[in-house]
Amino acid sequence: MLPILDLNRSWKEIREEALLKIAEVMDSQEFILGKEVREFENEIESFLGGGYAIGCASGSDALVLALMALDIKPGDEIITTPFSFFATVSCITRMGATPVFADVQSDTFNIDMDEVLKKTTPRTKAFLPVHMFGQMAPLETIMPELDARGIKVVEDTAQSLGSYRLLNGEKVFAGTIGDIGIFSFFPTKNLGAAGDGGMMFTKKPEFGERLRKLRVHGAKKQYFHEEVGLNSRLDTLQAAILRIKLRKMEVWNKQRRDLASSYNELFRNMGLLDRVSIPIEFPGNFHIFHQYVVRINAQEGTRDELYKFLSENGIGTKIYYPLSLHLQKCFEFLGGKTGDLPKSEQLTKSVLALPIFPGLTQKEQELVVETIRAFFKKK
Ligand SMILES: *Cc1c(COP(=O)(O)O)cnc(C)c1O
Repeated sequence: MLPILDLNRSWKEIREEALLKIAEVMDSQEFILGKEVREFENEIESFLGGGYAIGCASGSDALVLALMALDIKPGDEIITTPFSFFATVSCITRMGATPVFADVQSDTFNIDMDEVLKKTTPRTKAFLPVHMFGQMAPLETIMPELDARGIKVVEDTAQSLGSYRLLNGEKVFAGTIGDIGIFSFFPTKNLGAAGDGGMMFTKKPEFGERLRKLRVHGAKKQYFHEEVGLNSRLDTLQAAILRIKLRKMEVWNKQRRDLASSYNELFRNMGLLDRVSIPIEFPGNFHIFHQYVVRINAQEGTRDELYKFLSENGIGTKIYYPLSLHLQKCFEFLGGKTGDLPKSEQLTKSVLALPIFPGLTQKEQELVVETIRAFFKKK
């Protein structure tokens, strides 16, 4: 049985150190924010090259807090992608604002920058791109244009901590180009906690200060509330564990890249490239392969049959994502219809995420691709 994700393998690498640290935190009886959180924030700040990192309770909360810091109001429009996790869009409707969807690029899964510019109106207040599956979207291509139109940018970097683009020979990390970047430490992410956790990042001191206040009920001084924020703090225990994992993250991200290359080679060598589109790395990108997502180029229904076949053969895969966000029941009131965003809709029918995680072996990868080959032989 090969699961889509086996967290035990990377846990084994840090188990002893983490258990000692957990005992230390328990003995300190400090549970919320505190020294470990501050240290973790400092370490993320130095990793990303300066700025302000502010821990909070989840990636979903980080998105809501970011929009609060931008003073998003009912009636404001925010351009975003229909092909993402739900939280990317629910943060917008939660603020009473209106999501405006721009379609994606089928080969990178990222929002199409030309489409974004076409969707701006005088009511557009912000742009919320997602760096999908570990690959950064080329935001720099439209930043000057967005700036000129007074549009703020919140980067959903929940899947891409450590991914970057090389611009003029310099590494520019995902989450550091826009006004605010958000991260998630949900256990399945490439830097995962032992529970929920999230973070906001900004280079602008005014947003840094505002976010720090918003995560503690809008109070700079305890019990004196300047505005209504959220109760959304990062736990001490989570930060302590995340600090240990952060030291491994670059090695783990590199392992993910190696595993992706190895899958690519297997698909090529087994002659499957006419059946299966392998993920591409956009020029200049350092993709961290939070997920390795292939597309099945065949008649409709084949992807679902393959999913079932792999599962019957003991291989766990997942469909990220089975329904485009503009077609979700809870967003019916926005008036989205089938056909509005054809590329996103097509992806929901063709994508399949294969097992990829630190500790996955070459043998297991061979088994995955051989089983996919057996499926197509049988057809
Ligand atoms: C995981 C994820 C989130 C939400 O993060 P949580 O910590 O689970 O709340 C938001 N956006 C994207 C794209 C994600 O993958």
